[in-house]
Amino acid sequence: MARDTGAQCKQCRREGQKLFLKGERCLTDKCGVERRSYPPGEHGRGRQKQSEYRVQLREKQKARRYYGVLEKQFHGYYVKASRQPGITGENLLALLECRLDNVLVRLGFGASRRQARQLVRHGHWTVNGRRVNIPSYQVKPGDVIAIAAGSPATQVVRDATELTGQIPAWLQADHESLTAKVLRRPERREVAAPVQEQLIVELYSK
Ligand code: SF4
Repeated sequence: MARDTGAQCKQCRREGQKLFLKGERCLTDKCGVERRSYPPGEHGRGRQKQSEYRVQLREKQKARRYYGVLEKQFHGYYVKASRQPGITGENLLALLECRLDNVLVRLGFGASRRQARQLVRHGHWTVNGRRVNIPSYQVKPGDVIAIAAGSPATQVVRDATELTGQIPAWLQADHESLTAKVLRRPERREVAAPVQEQLIVELYSK
């Protein structure tokens, strides 16, 4: 399975903001953006040429990196979103938000998407009682998510719950039993991603 193995702090520095890709470290003063708030590379501190295309491209890259999705799959989400009724940008964000790895982070069951993704790949989570090892699995309203019985990752997940902020209203979590339920599809205002989705739609519709 293809995945982005690039340095995560460089990805945040490239986008000029914290994307919280590393879990606990992102909350400390070791954060790459806090320490070097300029783009990586030899010309990182040089003058950046601005254009409409560049702004749209950076927004798309930021969303990709935030959700940990590679280009081909991200474009696939856009195509799917554009075929759904409603606003394409909002559909796109809802599809990304409903990925199982992202949902685990929103529930507080993963310190980062990369960690959540690895735990899913290694079979530590079930959906509706069946083991799911596909991080991009789309959760649906009514789905019940639970840690697999006897999973050795229980302590890692409990540690992650201690970093949890507020759980969005479309999800319900029980941090004692490490179970959760998807109540409904997320609304745009409930998606905390630092992304202007309209710019991504403009980029892809050229
Ligand atoms: Fe991004 Fe986290 Fe690295 Fe800070 S510590 S630059 S938020 S990945």
